[in-house]
Amino acid sequence: MDPLDPELHAGDDDLSLRPRTLEEFIGQEQLKENLRIFVEAARRRGEPLDHVLLAGPPGLGKTSLCRILANEMGVNISITSGPTLERAGDIAAILTSLEDGDFLFIDEIHRLNRAVEEVLYPAMEDFEIDIVLGQGPSARTIRMDVPRFTLVGATTRTGLITSPLRDRFGFSSRLDYYSAGELQRLVERNAGILGIPIDEGGARQLAGRSRGTPRIANRLLKRARDYAEVRGGGFIDEATARAALEMLGVDELGLDRVDREYLELVIRKFDGGPVGLGTIAVALGEARDTVEDVYEPYLLQSGLIQRTSRGRIATRRAYDHLGVPVPE
Ligand code: ADP
Repeated sequence: MDPLDPELHAGDDDLSLRPRTLEEFIGQEQLKENLRIFVEAARRRGEPLDHVLLAGPPGLGKTSLCRILANEMGVNISITSGPTLERAGDIAAILTSLEDGDFLFIDEIHRLNRAVEEVLYPAMEDFEIDIVLGQGPSARTIRMDVPRFTLVGATTRTGLITSPLRDRFGFSSRLDYYSAGELQRLVERNAGILGIPIDEGGARQLAGRSRGTPRIANRLLKRARDYAEVRGGGFIDEATARAALEMLGVDELGLDRVDREYLELVIRKFDGGPVGLGTIAVALGEARDTVEDVYEPYLLQSGLIQRTSRGRIATRRAYDHLGVPVPE
């Protein structure tokens, strides 16, 4: 298990660090501006917010944004996820328990099964669901109204959402990785909230190695605090941050053990590629989806790998990073 996997630790997000308003939510300026207009317009018309789809790798703030929007609209929010909704009845039960204007947040919405998805179509469009009563030849369908809710869907990859579902969202956007400067602001702000003494150099180190991901920045801040308290006199300066990151196995580019294993594999075992995603996943002992959604986006964005029609290849930068000579 990788201790830095942003997905595995979704449950340990610190409540005190969660942004509560769009102003507290760092970065994603264009998206925030669009959302401000979207919320303000709905409020002026006194209508519920249209359905929202948020895409992007784990830990970038999709759940946080959903909570903020519900907060701005002054409504309640129910949270569930694609894989936990097994039968049509599961989603029907949730929909009928909502109140007008409420938010329903469905994480990993690309993993909904067909039966559940089909309940959602008329619910999203006309706020109605069809319920099947009984079984076999005597079964009959009744149509029921559900409250005028707002569906907020989160997904790691928009491409995996079926087009009838995607078409029913009135607002759809992607969250991008954060810049080092944005993450430095986040680290400094959160160190303030948690009362952790840190200087600019320490914050810069942690921010620069957080894989562009707020959840990872928060986690590295806490682990650096542990390290500083036990080994470093309680203060996170640049040297303490570096030592803590080294101990955690996070390198200069923010890559962790699994990221480096990925690159080692492609370079040493497959001569730099091309090698298929399935092969890589098996060799790493990780699920294919995890490799594609959690590890690869950052390796791609960092220019360490490329996706080709024949598989993944390691770039010159990856060879340089691992200190392996580039073959002729
Ligand atoms: P996702 O739903 O995309 O996996 P979350 O919304 O759960 O990500 O974010 C993970 C944690 O990172 C949150 O608890 C929050 O503390 C922090 N976070 C995410 N995005 C931001 C941001 N833009 N500004 C401040 N904190 C953020």
